[in-house]
Amino acid sequence: MQWETVIGLEVHVQLATKSKIFSGASTTFGAAPNTQACAIDLAMPGTLPVVNEQALRYAIMFGLAINAEINQRSVFDRKNYFYPDLPKGYQTTQLDHPIVGPGVVEIPLSDGSHKSVRIHHAHLEEDAGKSLHDDFHGMSGIDLNRAGTPLIEIVSEPDMRNAEEAIAFAKKLHAIVTSLGISDGEMAQGSMRFDVNVSVRPKGQNEYGTRTETKNLNSFRFMEKAIALEVARQIDLIEDGGSVKQETRLYNGDTGEARSMRSKEEANDYRYFPCPDLLPVEIDDAVIQELRDNLPELPDAKAARFIARYGLSDYDAELLSSDRATAEYYETVVKACDDSKLAANWVSGELSARLNADETSIAHSPVTAPQLAGLIVRIKDNTISGKIAKQVFEAMWNREGDADTIIESKGLKQMSDSGELEAIVDQVLADNPDVVEQYRAADDKKRKKLLGGFMGPIMKATKGQANPGMVNQILVKKLNT
Ligand code: ADP
Ligand code: MG
Repeated sequence: MQWETVIGLEVHVQLATKSKIFSGASTTFGAAPNTQACAIDLAMPGTLPVVNEQALRYAIMFGLAINAEINQRSVFDRKNYFYPDLPKGYQTTQLDHPIVGPGVVEIPLSDGSHKSVRIHHAHLEEDAGKSLHDDFHGMSGIDLNRAGTPLIEIVSEPDMRNAEEAIAFAKKLHAIVTSLGISDGEMAQGSMRFDVNVSVRPKGQNEYGTRTETKNLNSFRFMEKAIALEVARQIDLIEDGGSVKQETRLYNGDTGEARSMRSKEEANDYRYFPCPDLLPVEIDDAVIQELRDNLPELPDAKAARFIARYGLSDYDAELLSSDRATAEYYETVVKACDDSKLAANWVSGELSARLNADETSIAHSPVTAPQLAGLIVRIKDNTISGKIAKQVFEAMWNREGDADTIIESKGLKQMSDSGELEAIVDQVLADNPDVVEQYRAADDKKRKKLLGGFMGPIMKATKGQANPGMVNQILVKKLNT
């Protein structure tokens, strides 16, 4: 039997407002536990919430970016349930009248084509607090700092057919919200969390299979693993004569295993009702128009501009436009070094590999854009070779200073003194008389190879600092005379 996977995503995005969605408490990440939750966030008696206008604007900007209908009248509801990290006893969210209606997100596929993923809607809601299990033996701590942080929950239609598409979709959402500047997109801090709905069906069947929902994945890698695991589990179940039960599942990134959290029968009845403390939100045409007119450049437009203006490949353009910080970093480097291709190679190559290895983001890169540009300038003017540049980059990463300082202090300057180089070439040729003979007897193709063979000992003699172009010239000249 051939199986087809069906995936729909629910994505929580923390909005980058300074204060909470219904109070003036700060949203800054990393503060001491329970120092940033106020009486309103806890719904203490006598308090009244007031909607944060910036959160509304951010949600509308997202809607405009995905060509969605903006619902000019939206309503906040209470979703009632008990959980230790929810001292209010309900989450303020939007059920029947979300602020953002149906829209669409284009995702790139590996074969170079594109696919549209439909967005069912996106609504505003508040985040809950956080349970902490590590520091408290046999107990849980509760940190309510996050309670009341504004979120948009983006709900897709079940339009994705494999993990690759789901991840391309997740990455595209990340690119959109960071380009808009409505979220910092810091996944490691929980700024974007993915609930993945997965079902399988026999290929060719029209009806969807029963789905499960794996909650709260906070990295693309975990998404990929959790989907693979769940697809295999469902297929095994059905092929063994069983059936998939609709349930919520939890994936543990540390163990790489998932388990059932609750079945549909145990699902809460949330007893939703419109929040009596908040008026329906009414948005003027003028506000929408103003936001539309001032929408920042979106990832697709940026990628197209990078291709046209900087001559980048589709791949590099996609990568470098994938979030605002990366795009800004790249353009700063280009401006300062005036070489869009070398800049692209370094940002999407060495730099991004280093950022990945250290699990950090470009915003926290120890090598700043002007510093990287300084390094590229020294490659361009032949002060150093590309190979030595990697060594300089490593030192810059370790905060040893600017490229020039490092090149100077470590004595890494490329040898471009032709007298000095000629002496070294002479020595190497004298050490290898048989190869010189072979060279003189060889055809062009063979000569090229033999020429390359001389490079090794010459680079060794100069600790990799010989200017390769000059060495080549000198070699050819000497071998031909
Ligand atoms: P509910 O109303 O129970 O929350 P929804 O219809 O709103 O369910 O769907 C929630 C999410 O699950 C959406 O992202 C949707 O795309 C996805 N989904 C729905 N049915 C399936 C299915 N059979 N397989 C995979 N994903 C699904
Ligand atoms: Mg739902």
